[in-house]
Amino acid sequence: MICSCGNEAFYYQRYSNKYLCKECFKKDIERRAKKVLGKDIIRNNVKIGIGISGGKDSLVMACILKKLFKHIPNAKLICFFVDEGIKGFREKAKEYIKEFCEEQGLELKIIKFEDEIGYTLDEIVKNDYLSELNIGRPCSFCGVVRRYLLNKHALKEGCDYLAIGHNLDDFCQTILMNYVEGNVKNIIQFGKEFEGEGFVKRIKPLKLIPEDEVRLYADINNIKYQKEPCPYSSLSYRHRMKKVIKVLEEDKPGVKFSILRGYEKLLKYMDVKEEVKRCEICGFPCSGNICKVCSWLIKLKEISKSE
Ligand SMILES: [Zn+2]
Ligand SMILES: [Zn+2]
Repeated sequence: MICSCGNEAFYYQRYSNKYLCKECFKKDIERRAKKVLGKDIIRNNVKIGIGISGGKDSLVMACILKKLFKHIPNAKLICFFVDEGIKGFREKAKEYIKEFCEEQGLELKIIKFEDEIGYTLDEIVKNDYLSELNIGRPCSFCGVVRRYLLNKHALKEGCDYLAIGHNLDDFCQTILMNYVEGNVKNIIQFGKEFEGEGFVKRIKPLKLIPEDEVRLYADINNIKYQKEPCPYSSLSYRHRMKKVIKVLEEDKPGVKFSILRGYEKLLKYMDVKEEVKRCEICGFPCSGNICKVCSWLIKLKEISKSE
């Protein structure tokens, strides 16, 4: 099959009914990231923090951002890697990331759980601190702390935005999971970001790119990434939702885009304003007097004292 440019196609994009050559595929992906960001973000004198984990999504995102900001005067990019201290798993990720950042000429900052909260995630799990904190799964702890630390360091570095590598499939899974479980509050919170002082606005450049195409982009650009999942991840429900979406997409190509579009339309009608306070200890925006992370840290200190 032939791409519209005349070159031989290597990929059939089912939802657009187009055959694409490698070059046109790359351009298509980069154009969509550009569209999500827009002129407000791709501008002079902007500083973008990039959260990278070593997986395909974050590395592809960093690679695309590098291209999009290449000729923008005085635009700065800085990568943040949160090392939770998961033996074996994270060390491997760190190798991929160091190599990647060196190749791309990207500044890299490594943030360690150990330095920031006094423990590695392995220690938190091994000592059974999670049950003392009333947390069910390691991901519930890790996710919140990672998000907190990324914001903290992006703020410290003076970033205007913090880029997160969520792809179209991630969006659809989260949206549908929240619908199915009736988590109305989460539905709203997922779509609306905190804004204002103390919080670096998060951007998601891969929002309009399906997971398969992120993987394909990584492969044709020879981006080496970590393929094994985190040993603590329990993806069961998300994984089941992934299967459901796959069936829907097979029946009706493009359904992922309509899940996202429908959700974004709905968001416009959900004008719930929540009062945002600031944590009395660290200043992080939160709904109570003390943010989740600080309240956990207080408890962890108490536990270690009593031991
Ligand atoms: Zn082409
Ligand atoms: Zn706090």
